[in-house]
Amino acid sequence: MNGLFEKNKDRPIKKTIANKSNLFPSLPPRVTLAQLPTPLHSLDRLSRSIGGPRIWVKRDDLSGSTLSGNKVRKLEFLLAAALANGCDTVITGGGIQSNHCRATALAAKQCGLHAHLLLRGKPTQCPEGNLLLDYLAGAQVTFCDENTDYDRLHDLMAEQREYYRQLGHNPWVIPIGGSDRCGLWGYIAACAELAEDCAVAGIAPSHIICATGSGGTQGGLILGCQYYGINARVLGVNVCDDARWFEQKIRGDLCAWQQHYQAHIKVNDLPIEILDGYVGAGYALASEHVWDTIIRVARSEGIVLDPVYTGKAFDAVLCEIKKGYFAESSDIIFISTGGIFGLLAQRPALYTRPHFSKY
Ligand SMILES: *Cc1c(COP(=O)(O)O)cnc(C)c1O
Repeated sequence: MNGLFEKNKDRPIKKTIANKSNLFPSLPPRVTLAQLPTPLHSLDRLSRSIGGPRIWVKRDDLSGSTLSGNKVRKLEFLLAAALANGCDTVITGGGIQSNHCRATALAAKQCGLHAHLLLRGKPTQCPEGNLLLDYLAGAQVTFCDENTDYDRLHDLMAEQREYYRQLGHNPWVIPIGGSDRCGLWGYIAACAELAEDCAVAGIAPSHIICATGSGGTQGGLILGCQYYGINARVLGVNVCDDARWFEQKIRGDLCAWQQHYQAHIKVNDLPIEILDGYVGAGYALASEHVWDTIIRVARSEGIVLDPVYTGKAFDAVLCEIKKGYFAESSDIIFISTGGIFGLLAQRPALYTRPHFSKY
């Protein structure tokens, strides 16, 4: 039996915050991978200089070091399911600098599993950022065309699974971003922490905001707020595609979750709020404005955002504060979902910013 799996049994779930609804199913098994709970910090200097609500950051970038960010929360449940099904190999996919794939590669090794990654894009001569860590973890990597779309990548993963089956292995596919009915549990459980965080800080945030890339973080937060009685609006800033795509994707995941776990909740009534308009030139492409926000946040608060997800989403929050979107709010929470290795993979864009190293 896997050691992590065993340890999980008495993982402390906050006792002070009860599951507010007995209509919800209880949490499924999880393996212990993340350093939890993560802290909640208020960004007082930055909030003051912007002049909007107090901005709080849930530091999920501190959920581990190499195995950090939002994906590790999902993987606790996804890998527990894989192990419970006796799998020996996990297959997943994403962009060449996918945080999810890097986290899966490392988490798989912590569970003694082989990892096979299908990555969109072309390898550079010397791998860097997340890809370097994928290789370091001994993940097997297959590259596919940069323009492979979401459905096609899942087809390719299913083909890989067949291939492993024919070799006599027991493969397990984890979807892109770990966003499916099982992965949703990561951020449902995170809401137990958030409820406790808010109680300790004495705040009732109007909004909980995250970057949305495959929808599992936002979907989990939507369910988790119901689960743990947090009365806040969940707002996702899409970093690719558009609001329509994510509304459908997240709605689909919520419905699949509700059916599979027999939850007595009308998931179709839950609002899915996407703040569209901040994708810019495309996925993983940050504008100069986003880069300047990344620099500003690092220099005012010592928090490192990334160009693909958190930098874009946080920049959107600052822009919306200026436009008055949060005019009625006293406190908002931003989920800092990690991504530092994606930042390191885009070094040139950062050090060529004007005044970057003039101190
Ligand atoms: C994957 C990712 C997100 C988006 O989360 P989803 O659940 O895929 O929507 C946000 N931030 C970082 C750093 C990520 O790696």
